[in-house]
Amino acid sequence: MTAEPRLGIDIGGTKTAVVLVADGSVQAMRSAPSGRGASGVVDVAVRLALEVLDAHAPRAVGGGADLPVGACMPGLVDPVSGLARHAVNLDVESLDLAGELSARLGVPVAVENDVKAAALGAWRLRGFWPAGSAGSAGSVMSGLSAAALGPVRESTDHRGGSALAYLNLGTGLASAVVRDGVVVRGIDGAAGEIGHLPVGGDAPCTCGQVGCLETVASGSALARLWPAVGRRATNPFAAATDGDALAAAAVDVVCTGVGLAVQLLALASGAERVVVGGGLTGLGAPLLAGIRADLERRARSSRMIDALGLPDRVELLPADVPVAALGAAWLSAPDRAGGPRPASVASPPGLASVGLPGERVG
Ligand SMILES: [Zn+2]
Repeated sequence: MTAEPRLGIDIGGTKTAVVLVADGSVQAMRSAPSGRGASGVVDVAVRLALEVLDAHAPRAVGGGADLPVGACMPGLVDPVSGLARHAVNLDVESLDLAGELSARLGVPVAVENDVKAAALGAWRLRGFWPAGSAGSAGSVMSGLSAAALGPVRESTDHRGGSALAYLNLGTGLASAVVRDGVVVRGIDGAAGEIGHLPVGGDAPCTCGQVGCLETVASGSALARLWPAVGRRATNPFAAATDGDALAAAAVDVVCTGVGLAVQLLALASGAERVVVGGGLTGLGAPLLAGIRADLERRARSSRMIDALGLPDRVELLPADVPVAALGAAWLSAPDRAGGPRPASVASPPGLASVGLPGERVG
C-alpha cells in the first residue's frame, strides 16, 4: 500500500512554492515569484500546482480523484471560511483563497496562515535536520526518505514531544504551536502572535504599538539596527567578527530578543522543542550560537530558568526547506468524506496527528 499523494502550496511574500508529497517523501517541488493582487496570487499558485501534477500525478485531480491539497499565505487566513485577508505584502486585501483554488484545481483546498502551516511542517519534519547545527536544506531534503513524512513515523515517534513551538524570524516575528499534530489557533486565530507583545524600548512597530518584541527580534529589527547604507558586508555576524561595532550591537540585540521569544514560547506553551525558521535562518550557525548564548545567560541568572534546559530545546531549521508548503500539504484531514476539513481546526487530535488506518506505508 502506498500513502496517498498530497499537494502543498505556500504563497509567500516573495515566492510561491508547491510540493507534492507521496509515499512519505517529497516527489516534486516547483517555485516561482509570487503573483500580486488576489488574481495574480491565485494564477501563480494554480500554474505551479498544475505543472507539478501534470508531471508527477496526472490522474490526481479531476475525474472524481480526491487529492488532498492545502495552501497557506500570510495575513489573516480563516480555515473555516477559506478567506484570506490583509496580506499586505501580496497586495491582497481580501481573497477567497480556498474557493478560488478549489474552483481552479477541481478539488477541495484547505487553507491556513503561513506561519501556522510552517509549524505543522516543522512538526512533520521534526528530527530530520542535524541536531545542534543549522544543517543544510540539501541534507534535510535528501533525508526526506520514505519514512520521513510517512504516517507510520508520525503515529509512533514522539521524540519531538507532544507540542512543538515554531518561531518564524522573517521581516516580522510570529510563532505557532502544534500540539499533538494540531495547530493551536485560538478563538480568533491570533494565538502565537507574540511579535506584538510590548517588551520595552521606543521603536515603533508596524502594529501601532511601541517596543513590540518584533522590534528587537526580526529581520526588520536587524535592518533598523544595522542599516544597509554604507556597509559592505551582508552578514552581520561576519561583520561583527571583523570589528563592525554596530553589527555586533545589532546581533546582540536580536539574539537577546529571540532568546526572550524562545523563553516566552517555552514557558507559555510547554513545547518541548522550539524550532526557529524564516528568512533570518539563512544566517546559519552563528545565529543559533547567538540564541543559545543568550539562553545560557538567562539560565545563569535563575535556577528556575536553568532547569528548563532551553539551550538544548531550541533548533534552527535549515534555510530553504519548504516547511510551510510541507505543512500545507498536511492541512487536509485524511478523512475528507465531508469535504475539505482543515486539520488545524476541525479534527480532534487523534485524527490530525495522522497515523490513521489505511494511511500506513508498507
Ligand atoms: Zn507590534
